[in-house]
Amino acid sequence: MAPRSEREAPTAAQSTAEGCSPEPEHVPVVVVGTGFAGLGAAIALQREGREHLVLERAGDLGGTWRDNRYPGCRCDVPSHLYSFSFAPNPDWSETYSPQGEIRAYLQRVAEEHGVLDRVRFDCEVRHATWDERGQRWHLDTSQGPLTTEVLLLGNGPLAEPAIPDIPGREDFAGTAFHSAAWSDHDLTGERVAVVGTGASAVQFVPEIADAVAHLTVFQRTPPWVLPHRNRRISDAERAVYRRLPGAQRAVRGMVYWSRELLAGALLRNDRSLERLEGLARRYLHSQVPDPRLRARLTPDYRPGCKRLLLSDDWYATLQRAHVEVVTDKITEIRPHGLVTSDGAEHEVDTIIYGTGFHVTDNPIAHRVSGVGGRSLAAAWEESGAQAYLGTTVPGFPNLFLLAGPNTGIGHTSLVVMIEAQLAYVMDALRVRDERGAATLELRAPVLEGWTREVQAKAAGTVWNSGGCASWYLDEQGRNTTLWPDHTFRFRRRTRRFDVERYELTAPRDAIAHDAASRGGEPPRLEHLEVAP
Ligand code: NAP
Repeated sequence: MAPRSEREAPTAAQSTAEGCSPEPEHVPVVVVGTGFAGLGAAIALQREGREHLVLERAGDLGGTWRDNRYPGCRCDVPSHLYSFSFAPNPDWSETYSPQGEIRAYLQRVAEEHGVLDRVRFDCEVRHATWDERGQRWHLDTSQGPLTTEVLLLGNGPLAEPAIPDIPGREDFAGTAFHSAAWSDHDLTGERVAVVGTGASAVQFVPEIADAVAHLTVFQRTPPWVLPHRNRRISDAERAVYRRLPGAQRAVRGMVYWSRELLAGALLRNDRSLERLEGLARRYLHSQVPDPRLRARLTPDYRPGCKRLLLSDDWYATLQRAHVEVVTDKITEIRPHGLVTSDGAEHEVDTIIYGTGFHVTDNPIAHRVSGVGGRSLAAAWEESGAQAYLGTTVPGFPNLFLLAGPNTGIGHTSLVVMIEAQLAYVMDALRVRDERGAATLELRAPVLEGWTREVQAKAAGTVWNSGGCASWYLDEQGRNTTLWPDHTFRFRRRTRRFDVERYELTAPRDAIAHDAASRGGEPPRLEHLEVAP
């Protein structure tokens, strides 16, 4: 990619109205973020010939695959599936790609589809406010104001690192950082604490163990771990994929359907998960001979309830002479160490937080205000995060959430869900044009029906009833993050924009004209019964 300075400056030509006070720049469609969701949206809009702008708060693209560059970071979904369906990559070097390859893939796809010159880097959306009169979104960004008719939020669920509020954290005198903001700080010869044993920690702990003098891993809940099946993809295989793209599509299809098969067990929380548990137990037994340590590493919930982790070296690392597993609760952080509930102080030079992300409490919800100035956070205060098809919310016209509530995935590739949402959004924009509408707004009863359906589906899944607490559930125990069904069902639901579930409003000019003849009543383009 061209360095920041070489990229074309964003067009500002439209930003001033001649002879009067400056009008904010107007763009018909704005996309936030340049991860899989944002770039996927930009490519889809480009294909549809829709003028758009992508706002990216960082200086580079890639979303979570740009930010998470900790040692050992790789995808735990096979690469043939964890990629855009329209942009297969015959050159993946391993079956589960390392972070650098995924980031480079996103870069290449963005370049090949010519969407980079519509990306404005270092541009953070501070607030988005719906202007009812103007029928547009006003964006307050770090590079000035903007207006847009349609806003697509591809900011991502794993974008805001969460660091627990442990008393004394600010007083720590050493180095401290989160796994998603990896520091170049040299860990060689240091005493290092790792807080957390989730998907990220399981990947970076074995990678840093060689360098450090002492490693203390603070485990609150043990994860279920299975051996990793990653392997190199041979030159011969890659040559086949290059020459016969159908072969790679077939492998992608096989991976997709095998994951959907696994989903059946997770969705029903059924007895086949006991077999999976047996496998994980045998693996743990084969790796950890000490029964006391084994007991501390054995989860007490169904596998899959928290993300199933894949690693060949996690257990081996925890048993190294200079590595210690601490399961007592961290009660305090002091300038030179962490204190646990047994009163012990564990002295360290560096703390690495592998403590996950603000998902159910993503701060973006406070930054988006819809009709009547009500924020998404306020709209979701009682109910928890919810959006019809994970995409639209009543009171937020022309707003589309990508990878929104209940589109997360516990068994397969999120890219599958994002592409399904993009098909829906592109169809919505087509319908908007065809009907001559200015705004599309979801009818409130549709969301109520949808939420009931999703929560009923979620109740029986392992994520809700598997006996664990995870970031999949919000503070009230509702699953507001994962899609609790097969992805092909979500794809089916998003194939067509179901306009009958939306209120359509005519453009403002028509409203002004019509309002005069209707005594101020704004015209609706549709008055259809809702079929939730
Ligand atoms: P995570 O799965 O949320 O794990 C956070 C860890 O921090 C958990 O072990 C948690 O313990 C622990 N923790 C949180 N607060 C704590 C506290 N106050 N004291 C002690 N421990 C605390 O976060 P993550 O590992 O960054 O992964 C997040 C998500 O990113 C994953 O679920 C996955 O979707 C994605 N991810 C994917 C990949 C991939 O390969 N595709 C790799 C990494 C991450 P509890 O379990 O007790 O809450």
